[in-house]
Amino acid sequence: MNIEKDRVVSLTYTLTDTAGKVLDSSTETGPLSYLHGNGNIIPGLEKALEGKGEGAAFKVTVPAAEAYGERDEHLVVNVPRDRFQGVADIQAGMQFEAETAEGSRLVTVTKVSPDMVTVDANHALAGQDLNFDVEVVAIRAATAEELSHGHPHVEHQGCGCGCGDDCGDGCGDDCGCGDGDECGCGDDHGEEGSGCGCGGCR
Ligand code: ZN
Repeated sequence: MNIEKDRVVSLTYTLTDTAGKVLDSSTETGPLSYLHGNGNIIPGLEKALEGKGEGAAFKVTVPAAEAYGERDEHLVVNVPRDRFQGVADIQAGMQFEAETAEGSRLVTVTKVSPDMVTVDANHALAGQDLNFDVEVVAIRAATAEELSHGHPHVEHQGCGCGCGDDCGDGCGDDCGCGDGDECGCGDDHGEEGSGCGCGGCR
């Protein structure tokens, strides 16, 4: 089976920036599962995975425009200091949820002066070309429920045991895989699939 729209793909990955610094990897969390063709992952990586088979291992550089987008300097704004009432000590690097026209957004404080605070609402990886070292671990057809939710239901995407669907040998964690739940988490999945908190539903 090859990767195409509406298949659930599990992969391991290491993400590095152009300087070779590791930004993220699946080593700790185990394979990442996503529903192909549904915008679960950045467009450039999805494109590179299209048509690949199980066991395929490859490297791809995804330009910023197909990753988290180019930086938008309009998203860097100065906010009067007194808008941050209740925050005693504002420092560069702090992050806040801000309400914007497009909903709540994570902003990072980049500069603090006595009267003004500069915040940046760009994604932390905006403007960066990203290098992925990827291996396709598994591919399967999605269930009807997964298709209606637009994301995969994976046993313990978040349990840290790295098992994906099948614990097999060497999983020492008590991950509860195989308990028969659709997503394995044991929580009530809910109509929207948003409330179970298992990590398989985002
Ligand atoms: Zn769901």
